[in-house]
Amino acid sequence: MRILFAASEAYPLVKTGGLADVAAALPVALNDIGIETRLLLPAYPDAMDSARDVARAAELGSLLGGHGATLFSARMPDTGLPLLLLDCPPLFARRGNPYTETGGSDWPDNHLRFAALSLAAARIASGTSGLDWRADVLHANDWQTGLAPAYLRMSGAPNTRSVFTIHNMRYQGLFEAGVLAELELPRHAFGMEGLEFHGHVSMLKAGLAFCDHITTVSPTYAEEIRTPEFGYGMEGLLAARGHDLSGVLNGIDERAWNPATDPHIPASFNGDDLSGKAACKTALQRELGLDEDSGAPLISMVTRLTAQKGVDLVIAILGALAERGIQVAILGAGDPGFEHHLRTLPVPPGRIATRLGYDETLAHRLIAGADMFLMPSRFEPCGLTQMYAMRYGTLAIARRTGGLADTIRDIATSDPTSGTGFLFDASTPDSLLDAVLRAVRLRADGTAWRLAQRRAMQQDFSWTKAAEAYLRIYSRLAPTAASNVRAATIEQPGTGRAGESS
Ligand code: ADP
Repeated sequence: MRILFAASEAYPLVKTGGLADVAAALPVALNDIGIETRLLLPAYPDAMDSARDVARAAELGSLLGGHGATLFSARMPDTGLPLLLLDCPPLFARRGNPYTETGGSDWPDNHLRFAALSLAAARIASGTSGLDWRADVLHANDWQTGLAPAYLRMSGAPNTRSVFTIHNMRYQGLFEAGVLAELELPRHAFGMEGLEFHGHVSMLKAGLAFCDHITTVSPTYAEEIRTPEFGYGMEGLLAARGHDLSGVLNGIDERAWNPATDPHIPASFNGDDLSGKAACKTALQRELGLDEDSGAPLISMVTRLTAQKGVDLVIAILGALAERGIQVAILGAGDPGFEHHLRTLPVPPGRIATRLGYDETLAHRLIAGADMFLMPSRFEPCGLTQMYAMRYGTLAIARRTGGLADTIRDIATSDPTSGTGFLFDASTPDSLLDAVLRAVRLRADGTAWRLAQRRAMQQDFSWTKAAEAYLRIYSRLAPTAASNVRAATIEQPGTGRAGESS
């Protein structure tokens, strides 16, 4: 079975968010279980510089707007994953953030850039790119490749099916209807059943409307986006396609986030011996200027500073936490309003520490050294940091939504012998505070806390589980191609449809 995985970013070549992590890891996990998967990305200069074994592979000829395009084959520098890089200098020869100019505004030709990427994906997948290769399934991701299923459908490719994955409904790839002429799609594609959305072109909706199967990154988010609160106006379409919609939980990079081998933390530890974690906590308190008190609960948060992440809820309870001797350490970057707020907090020193910016290694130290981790998101398609925290025995305090609800089991006060974290429902400071205080009370019982830490650390967040769930989806779409994948992978007794909902 052959899969073309199309995305606009992939770590470590280019990254702005979680999509880059998924695009780097899932295709590797798919290859590992015997599915031949190639990753298509634009040949941004940063990507061309970092990729290895770059070689000219095919001339695609003219894409949209008469731009000539070339396909390069290459490999990921770290994993060796086979890449296809779409070279079209007028569209992609730009450094830095792939979507925005230096000033932060979107590139004015983004519609053309990502339509070209989508068209190239459809041509490669359907076997009309000049490469000696085609795909059984084209797997597109988010709005930047949302037109790929549309181009595939319009080209009538009989042997290639498409999957479209939503990583975040919030970003919809909306453009003025006037751009339609540049996209070289038939007029009828622009209808209520197609890519039209309130008089605009929506590339997200194109993906949802024209793909054969829709996935999103957690089973609970797959349910939530069928409702007005989470569907941003597309809930009707998603509900109508309910039979073709499933949620598959993302995995995490278990090599990068492993407390036994993490080079970024001052002491290593594991589920059987947590003494290194205590050393991480003391070092973190010292580094951040917090009181060096091993008995004080220390809660950390590593996040983009946006309303989505419930940063306002945290700010609202900081005073109440500090009063109770609870320490909080926040690392974040994003919304200037939240940054200002955190910079000017009227809180006692020694209890609250904030660091503004994006700092990968400090993120590891915060996650390793804290007792608890905050994630009070309003919505969370999957979320990675709660899974990282659990691997480090740092129990998450999170809102029961999306991937948080799917990865954390609540430790009920009435039964502290099961569960892996603390969940709350209402997006209010009081509910968050209640959950924090529940966690603090459990921590006072050293034995119960250690058992809960061990349960959290034992969770399986590997990408293999996700890859097997995707294989089941691909197999339903392309059963003949699936027959050449390791039979054991498909028919493993007992795996059922774990990790996938539909
Ligand atoms: P989202 O993709 O919505 O931002 P996720 O939890 O899925 O949320 O992934 C966020 C990723 O970005 C994690 O790897 C997290 O550690 C990292 N991250 C977020 N903010 C920061 C920051 N300020 N410094 C370092 N890493 C960060």
